[in-house]
Amino acid sequence: MKINLSPNQNPTAPADREAKIAEGGFGKYYTDNMLIAEWDEQSGWGDATIKAYGPLSLDPATSVLHYGQEIFEGLKAYSQPDGGVSLFRPDANAKRFAKSANRLALPELPVEDFINTVTELVKHEINWVPKNFGESLYIRPFMIATEVGLGVRPSNHATYLVITTPASAYFNPNKAVTVWISTEYVRAAPGGTGAAKAGGNYAASLLAQKEAATQGCDQVVWLDALERKWVEEMGGMNLYFIKGSGKDATVFTPKLTGTLLAGVTRDSILTVARDLGYKVEEGMISIDQWRDGIASGEITEIFACGTAAVVSPVGAAKSAQGTWTTGNGEPGPITMEIRNHLLGIQHGTIADKHGWNVKVK
Ligand SMILES: *Cc1c(COP(=O)(O)O)cnc(C)c1O
Repeated sequence: MKINLSPNQNPTAPADREAKIAEGGFGKYYTDNMLIAEWDEQSGWGDATIKAYGPLSLDPATSVLHYGQEIFEGLKAYSQPDGGVSLFRPDANAKRFAKSANRLALPELPVEDFINTVTELVKHEINWVPKNFGESLYIRPFMIATEVGLGVRPSNHATYLVITTPASAYFNPNKAVTVWISTEYVRAAPGGTGAAKAGGNYAASLLAQKEAATQGCDQVVWLDALERKWVEEMGGMNLYFIKGSGKDATVFTPKLTGTLLAGVTRDSILTVARDLGYKVEEGMISIDQWRDGIASGEITEIFACGTAAVVSPVGAAKSAQGTWTTGNGEPGPITMEIRNHLLGIQHGTIADKHGWNVKVK
């Protein structure tokens, strides 16, 4: 895919840009440019263009606005000790994007085109990459169905875009999130779209998120659709349970059954935990096992993981059956060790022995 340059002629002034980066947060400010490419059933993918960030103009009958045919990705560029910038495992996101496209009947973007377009845009926006540890440039590639018409069918036109936003360390080490275990609503069912990163999954999750808030909780924990018993994910993040403590601890995560989203962070932590000497296990955990594991002391720490927050400790879990609190509500030592190790690899302060970092600059 050829990338044409038609950049923003009026980019943010350096002082303003630095102030916006320093303000932190997540998704508040977007960088000066975005990337866009169009696909058509007849002609395939056209060239990509890097151009000024700004509104899209869409016909009101554009397919995505009615039937939600949309997929997205999330990955980060991290500044490195030598002043360079690296992407973390962009190949994994590229492959997942192609899988999501396939499930949503959107055109697959070749892996190399995904990586090249993301790399070129980040190169262009390199001054927007925050320098501090834990901070990054968050990259949001997405694809929408842009055939105009209300007929229900796979769109014969699609638009791929990449936008970027500086993200601060999204982690409050003194506050574990509280979770509401939803038994009324489900995120994903067998045969559905749970394994695809699709906007529709999020749309369908928001009512449960609202319910969690009325229960005084920060996030929803999703159970399997059939038995409403097996723990799957938390909000838009995967879950980890630490069983036992010290070097004999087991680092456990729900296995990928087809209804879970295969997180890149989840996958990286399987490897990092093994590298750190822990036993690692993928399996099934029921809400009863969660409750009993907390009661018996077998489960010592719980955390959620995903690109945006990297690692987020989970404290109290509330359900129709009661509330179970992990530890003292503060992030546990293994949670912190894993988080610091992964972030260290991403920032180039710990050796990247699996070759995960891809240099942009
Ligand atoms: C994106 C996402 C995750 C986390 O995936 P990462 O690749 O680690 O960011 C987990 N669950 C859901 C539902 C997601 O959409």
